[in-house]
Order: sequence, then structure tokens, then C-alpha cells
Amino acid sequence: MEFTPEYLKPLPLAGRRPPGGGPEPSAPWVVLRGAGGRRSAGDGGGAAVLLDRDTVLIEDIAYNGDPGRVYPRPGARQAVAELRSLGVRLGVLTEQPGVARGVLNRRRIETVHHRIEELFGPFDVWAVCPHGPAERCGCRKPAPGLVLAATRALRVPPARTTVIGGTGADLVAAAEAGARGLLVPAGVARAEGLVAAGHRRAADLPGAVRMLLAAGTAR
Ligand SMILES: [Zn+2]
Repeated sequence: MEFTPEYLKPLPLAGRRPPGGGPEPSAPWVVLRGAGGRRSAGDGGGAAVLLDRDTVLIEDIAYNGDPGRVYPRPGARQAVAELRSLGVRLGVLTEQPGVARGVLNRRRIETVHHRIEELFGPFDVWAVCPHGPAERCGCRKPAPGLVLAATRALRVPPARTTVIGGTGADLVAAAEAGARGLLVPAGVARAEGLVAAGHRRAADLPGAVRMLLAAGTAR
């Protein structure tokens, strides 16, 4: 399987210009696969599911640029295959502040994403925030830029999009973008008290997919 990313022209992040002017915030890296037109068995009803990379799909290893250290979370591959069989558009969201810190670069991140696609199959869109907190970009969660960039690239309305994330910041980003959020609590979410806070949540990605199917919101 080839992974030859073609990065989209950065999209303007409406409403994220700093008050009082100032430079346009930095944009995320966005890769759209299959010219946005690929469809599998079902048509998915024009819905999209965006998955947070390091809490939902694979184990979170800080600043990992090594494809040999990509470990799928339990049940995640099967759950992604199930979503894909419905024809739901699938995207991956990830923050990689290691780029801003100089310990990661685009090429190394691509080798990791290539490995993820070997394990999970192709995703329709990838949206990466390469910035650090000091850059005040519009895509570092809880800002909605990654969600908006992915939905625009897919041409799926945020209202037809579910973001499955592991932290409160993922849920806030989804809500700000106008998408639905679904929590698969990572350790951070437990620390945030989100598990008890009444958010829509599942124990893991397979549970999240079952919930979406039962609610009819994945299609
Ligand atoms: Zn960013």
C-alpha cells in the first residue's frame, strides 16, 4: 500500500483571527485521500467519523516518529473496518507538537501514518496540527480547526460528523465545529472528571461504533 500524501492548500480558519488583527493563525496539515470520492460498500449517507489518533486508534507514545512503535488499541482495527464497510467517510485527527519542538518532522509523521494505514486500511482524510501551545494556532484542540479542516476537505457538513476522542479538548473542539462528540475516555479524561460528567461516551472504540450504529448516527 502506498502512502503518498498530497497536502491540501491550507484552509482559512474562519473566526480564529486574533482580536485586533495580527497574522492569520497557522493552518493544519491536511491530506485528502482518493480525491474525496472513494466509496466502499455502503454510501454512508454522507456521514463522517473523525478519530483521534493517539487516544482512540493507537497507543499514545509521546513524539513517536517510529513506525515500529505503532500499536493499535484493542478492537480498534475491527471497529474501523466496520465503519468503513458502511461507507462512512473516515478521518484521523492528531496533534503533533513534537514538530514545533523540533523532535519530529513531516516525513517521520508520514512514516507513522503509512504504518497506521497498513494496519487499519486507508483513511479518507488526515488532519495534523504541527504547532505548539505558543503558536496560538486555530487547530490545536480545544480549537475546532482540525475538525473543520477535515470536514471541509471531505465536503461533509459538521452536523453529519461525529468526532471520537479521548479527552475533554476533543469534545470541545467537536462542539465548537458543530459536530457531535463521543468520548472514549483516555487517562486524561478520567483526570478531567469527564467520565462522570454525563458526556456521551463508550468504553472503547468498538463500543463507540456499536453506539453510533444503534443510534443510526453513523450513516
Ligand atoms: Zn495547530
